[in-house]
Amino acid sequence: MTPDDLEKAVARLDAGLTVVFPTETVYGLGADASNPEAVKRIYAIKGRPADHPLIVHIASLRQLDSWADPIPPEAWRLAERFWPGPLTLVLPRRREVSGTVTGGRDTVAVRVPDHPVASARLETFGGGLAAPSANRFGRLSPTTARHVQEELGEEAGMILEGGPCRIGVESTIVSLVGQTPLILRPGAISAGQIREVLGREIGGPSEGLTGQPAPGGLSAHYAPKTPLEVLSAASLPGRVFQVIRAGGKAGVLALTGDAGRFGSDKVAIFLMSTRAEDYGRDFYAALHLLDRAGCDRLLVERPPGAEEWSAVRDRLRRALAPRSATWPSET
Ligand code: AMP
Ligand code: MG
Repeated sequence: MTPDDLEKAVARLDAGLTVVFPTETVYGLGADASNPEAVKRIYAIKGRPADHPLIVHIASLRQLDSWADPIPPEAWRLAERFWPGPLTLVLPRRREVSGTVTGGRDTVAVRVPDHPVASARLETFGGGLAAPSANRFGRLSPTTARHVQEELGEEAGMILEGGPCRIGVESTIVSLVGQTPLILRPGAISAGQIREVLGREIGGPSEGLTGQPAPGGLSAHYAPKTPLEVLSAASLPGRVFQVIRAGGKAGVLALTGDAGRFGSDKVAIFLMSTRAEDYGRDFYAALHLLDRAGCDRLLVERPPGAEEWSAVRDRLRRALAPRSATWPSET
């Protein structure tokens, strides 16, 4: 990004237009959060329902009180510990904050991203930027500028290039509006890290004993175009052969090394990292590639049950949700 790009980006934002920019989580489709007409452009480009609130990105925690009021002490503790970084706080909104950006709610979601391009732009712009992931509503989030170009084309307007995103899954969202802090969306910052800073129990999306998502909390989101299934390591090979025998092509995200034995042009395999952090970073990029590889099914080996995998499990559950597929049990 050159100083010229930065100047042009800020001129667009001042004019109420959108700019796509990289963050450490995913690429965001940004617009001036205090300009309702600009925010409406985001909803229109994404095809996102108007009651679905957007996260406001700010340059530093010093700007938090322009958006939230009152700010509970716990918000400052989390902000001081994790900002800039992949943590979004849901707080009571200031009265002046436009309902367009909060989806009509009396709360606002705010974060300080940790990426040099995002920071440079936020600092030069000065205000807050509403910025959801730069994809059509419900689709896979983009982790490279190319993903954005492929998904939004001309409508993306200006895209600031910043290389592949370092974290690759969306921010952890914590609500501090109720009695108990609540994780609304798991991300790279874990429930354990938040609990440690706050020194008390927090609530979160319950995954239930069967591994099935809690009822009600699930919306179709983060989904590839190709139907996706999650399978245990033991049942994955059989399912791959089934797809091939039926004349189809299988795209596989495997965790175990013997995936290579499928050697066939009817199978495209990614051998993913067994480290949650690295898996998360590569996750959307792998799904984007498989989604474009002409596969009939995406078959994903069930990730481990440990807490550090909760963000990946959450995104996988949502990716399969619209097709009422099931999550494999641990047995
Ligand atoms: P994203 O899709 O990454 O833009 O994240 C938006 C998500 O943030 C929404 O789906 C909500 O879960 C959450 N969110 C944003 N604003 C609010 C808010 N005011 N109150 C509760 N949740 C919010
Ligand atoms: Mg999104």
